[in-house]
Amino acid sequence: MNKKISKIYNNAKKYFGNLGWWPADSVFEIIIGAILTQNTSWKNVEKAIANLKEKRLIDPVKICKMRLTELSVVIRPAGCHNIKAKRLKEISRFIVAECAGVYSKLQKRSIGKLRGQLLNVSGVGPETADSILLYAFGKPVFVVDAYTKRVFYRHGLIQESAEYDEIQVLVHENFPRDTKSLNQLHALLVEIAKKFCKKNLPLCAECPLKGLLVRN
Ligand code: SF4
Repeated sequence: MNKKISKIYNNAKKYFGNLGWWPADSVFEIIIGAILTQNTSWKNVEKAIANLKEKRLIDPVKICKMRLTELSVVIRPAGCHNIKAKRLKEISRFIVAECAGVYSKLQKRSIGKLRGQLLNVSGVGPETADSILLYAFGKPVFVVDAYTKRVFYRHGLIQESAEYDEIQVLVHENFPRDTKSLNQLHALLVEIAKKFCKKNLPLCAECPLKGLLVRN
């Protein structure tokens, strides 16, 4: 067992405490957020979700029924709004067809089955599918993103070329496989990367992970 991931977790948790992701009022809002957050900052997602809330559109049936061009205008702050509007419609159709808003029906499905179904929805890749599995349905899966890759690579856990599945398996095999811990680990890695492990200039001297920087 590689204990480095747990050490990263413990050091980051001492600094940030419990982060308690994902900030949302409902399962469908988490799903919407997972789509809208593709290639943009969370601040922009918040603006788009506020627009949807104002128009009472956090509802898969309403999103299915509304015109694509109208939806696109509402979510414009999230960027790539035409593409994301299509994706929101696709995931809404999936939700309506598969569970009609009774999310416990989906929650009861196995990780493998639900993940496969989500990946079949147009515009849903592994990171989005796993975000939905973990944060909307409470499934114990690790979400890999660019922040994870950066921190893990700089700490000698992966090669720069490591693929999504390889990194996910590394975490699943070397870190407690429970929803709460995986939720927290992902959130901590995002915060570490945003605050300290910046793309071009890592601020190692100030970072809570600085003592773990020796490559193994
Ligand atoms: S800033 Fe430095 S110490 Fe912190 S996570 Fe990045 S590489 Fe590690």
